[in-house]
Amino acid sequence: MARRKATQPIQEFPLIRQLQRRFERKSSSVVTGIGDDAAVVSIPAGDWAVLTTDLLTEGVHFDLRTASPASVGYRAAMANLSDVAAMGAVPRFLLVSIAIPSSLRTTDILALYDGLMTACRAYKVRLIGGDTSASQHGLFLSITLLGTTKRRKVLLRKGARIGDSLYVTGTLGDSLAGLQLLSNSHAQGTGTSRLRPADRKFLINRHLRPTARVREGQWLNQTGVVTSAIDVSDGLSGDLRHICNASHVGAEIDVSRLPLSPACQSYATSTKQDPVALALAGGEDYELLFTVPETHRARLERAASRRNFTLTRIGHICAASLGIHRLLGNGRREPLPALSYEHFRTPN
Ligand code: ADP
Ligand code: MG
Repeated sequence: MARRKATQPIQEFPLIRQLQRRFERKSSSVVTGIGDDAAVVSIPAGDWAVLTTDLLTEGVHFDLRTASPASVGYRAAMANLSDVAAMGAVPRFLLVSIAIPSSLRTTDILALYDGLMTACRAYKVRLIGGDTSASQHGLFLSITLLGTTKRRKVLLRKGARIGDSLYVTGTLGDSLAGLQLLSNSHAQGTGTSRLRPADRKFLINRHLRPTARVREGQWLNQTGVVTSAIDVSDGLSGDLRHICNASHVGAEIDVSRLPLSPACQSYATSTKQDPVALALAGGEDYELLFTVPETHRARLERAASRRNFTLTRIGHICAASLGIHRLLGNGRREPLPALSYEHFRTPN
């Protein structure tokens, strides 16, 4: 969105009142939401609270010259929903803090909240408060999401064991392909003119409008057989590393099994890229990566297909001493490179 000079500076309290009017919804679980010194919520007796927070910075996480405030809000909320999904919990309450530069207007902030609450709507997540500040250095957005889960029922990164099967939901690489399409950064290849409009739309939508696997996460938690889980937010190769580090194990990925959408495959062909590289490196797919002991494999797969959840077995867990590697078509193995995104990493 092009920056316009604000005709009138944003006023803190009128803005908060507007946010409250538009986005606060009555709920029996919210004792006090926006308007008091702190929010008060009720959570089912004995449940555990699951908390996650994210800080998004203009120029680092998003660019308001190319992304609309609504899509910034939507994607910020979805990233948090995905974290709660990866814990197998039910997302419930949202706090949003925002530092606003003088270049933005009230309508931009309302659009950003529109995006945030659109992402939350399907899950009945309630906005219960936040904080508002001026900013001298671009827009800052911090989101905190509170979820709940039954006591001791939670999916962690640690817990994967040697021999466990490694699964992923949905398809990988779509969001990165969508991002490349938006930013026109597919330098190699013949370009994307032959890509079907429907495929292009699908990929861009997967980037701008991702869906966190909230229901899948809760279901996986309920099965009681998942030994570890994480959401694919930074890229499979990096997120798998987190599971392996936390669980003190290694892993083997069979790259021929990585689930690719037809759209992503067409895109890779038309840009002369390896779709496997897209699937390994692509962040923000918000699929779930998880492990299940061999003995529960068949039952899990049957139960998933009854629910229309797409799960793909992409490899297995092995000893830490074997590291993280991928199985190539010719039966050979090679170490899996860390391709995913990391802050503060110096480019080489
Ligand atoms: P305090 O001075 O105690 O920080 P504020 O005046 O900042 O209180 O906030 C008043 C109420 O408005 C609180 O309930 C707070 O949670 C809510 N609030 C403030 N900013 C936001 C925001 N950006 N989004 C949602 N709620 C907000
Ligand atoms: Mg405040």
